[in-house]
Amino acid sequence: MPIEYDAIIVGSGPNGLAAAITLARAGCSVLVCEANAIIGGGARSAELTLPGFVHDVCSAVHPLAAGSPFFRTLPLERFGLEWIQPEIPLAHPLDDGSAARLYKDVDFTADSLGIDAAAYRRLMKPLAHNWQTLAKEFLQPMLHFPQHPITLARFGIPAICPSTLLAKFLFKHEPARALFAGIAAHSFLPLEAPVSSAFALVLGLAGHAVGWPIPRGGSQQIANALADYLRELGGSIEVNCRVESLRQLPKSRAVLLDISVWEFLRITGEQLPAGYRRRLRSFRHAPGIFKIDYALSEPVPWKSETCHRAGTIHLGGGIDEIAAAEREVARGTIPERPFLLVAQQSLFDSTRAPRGQHTLWGYCHVPFDCNIDMSNKIESQIERFAPGFRDCILARHTMTATDLARANPNLTGGDINGGAANLTQLIARPILSPTPYRTPLPGVYLCSASTPPGGGVHGMCGYHAARAALGEIFAKH
Ligand SMILES: Cc1cc2nc3c(=O)[nH]c(=O)nc-3n(C[C@H](O)[C@H](O)[C@H](O)COP(=O)(O)OP(=O)(O)OC[C@H]3O[C@@H](n4cnc5c(N)ncnc54)[C@H](O)[C@@H]3O)c2cc1C
Repeated sequence: MPIEYDAIIVGSGPNGLAAAITLARAGCSVLVCEANAIIGGGARSAELTLPGFVHDVCSAVHPLAAGSPFFRTLPLERFGLEWIQPEIPLAHPLDDGSAARLYKDVDFTADSLGIDAAAYRRLMKPLAHNWQTLAKEFLQPMLHFPQHPITLARFGIPAICPSTLLAKFLFKHEPARALFAGIAAHSFLPLEAPVSSAFALVLGLAGHAVGWPIPRGGSQQIANALADYLRELGGSIEVNCRVESLRQLPKSRAVLLDISVWEFLRITGEQLPAGYRRRLRSFRHAPGIFKIDYALSEPVPWKSETCHRAGTIHLGGGIDEIAAAEREVARGTIPERPFLLVAQQSLFDSTRAPRGQHTLWGYCHVPFDCNIDMSNKIESQIERFAPGFRDCILARHTMTATDLARANPNLTGGDINGGAANLTQLIARPILSPTPYRTPLPGVYLCSASTPPGGGVHGMCGYHAARAALGEIFAKH
């Protein structure tokens, strides 16, 4: 059979598109095969509730996309991508009606934290200045020779600490502790786990370096801009093309799979050597999420004025309450008061809802593959900080962890990050190797969030996998 494409990419998520662009830029002919009718994977938007309300189906807030060393090299603005920076990237309301906040400016943030100002400044300021350097270091496989070992060590020492320990050691008051814990909870790890602080640092630093922006028109705009650029480079995309076996693909020199470890095991079956299969089977899932979207008759009636000016809000109370909720999820039980993330895009982007009306996007953490409807618990948690919220609801759309997996095979059990990001799996993702993208199948590479650096819309897994393929396959031709 003659070679039809230099490379075929399975999956059009941010990593699949990043891989395709990297290869197309190097002069390769590429085809992307996407199972869904719509491209984008975790970067999609749709009218999930009522006509005129544009919701982000998966990702909504994009510090990692805006701070991605790879995306920064692409002319995505030319293809319609426009970042909106909410006045306050993140607010974290507390029961007394106040709210901790992350501003883009480190000093503003520190000053808002009162007695903990100096400690916050000492932790974040030197690292925030070095975001570009740090981002390149940690957004790649952990097994590499660091180019900036001192900067990396300055980040790595606090990053490896459990977040409850670090927050309570550094900060004396609840606002700073709660703010840090809420960001650390993006790790999906118990907050007592090593490296849970890494997530608070990376996302906090990204907030200071590039903000926590939202794309005008919704996250679909990220995927659309990537796809349009890919087409300009000569690449093709086929939708409604679910790959059940690698044998069904046209002949190519390389195949890059933007699919999870579990989908890879499923579609390759016995083709993989037993030892490698065993290693992949020992790769662990993270807990799942329950996703909810609202169409609202008016903005959320937050008690705290700060929350009206913030793009993202973390709802979970103080550090101990968030830690307790995350421990329960990790144990496989449902917390009474789940930790909840919400984003209120329509306050900053008028394209998201009819005039005067609003959207609210949110999710809470739940045990892996949990099929329980969390709407009630979520709404009680929002009401706690925004009394009267229920009266604003025009419509809601929900997805359990099980529903998410049905919609995208990469979201097995509702795990949105392609596998747990614990210390072991940050280093061995999905296997311990300086080139973890390479698989034992000749010319076949993994490029999804199950590879380094892991979950989030940043395209770095796709970029590094494509670079590996370029070095190993195409250098020979
Ligand atoms: C509800 C939710 C909220 C999130 N919020 C954020 C956020 O705010 N910010 C952020 O940065 N990240 C967020 N994320 C995480 C982010 O979306 C993912 O980490 C990211 O999309 C991973 O990209 P990927 O390319 O590896 O995989 P995906 O985006 O999942 O794309 C994989 C693609 O491959 C396709 N596919 C899978 N199997 C096959 C097959 N066999 N054949 C053909 N096609 C196949 C899928 O249909 C999908 O389109 C969120 C995720 C979810 C689900």
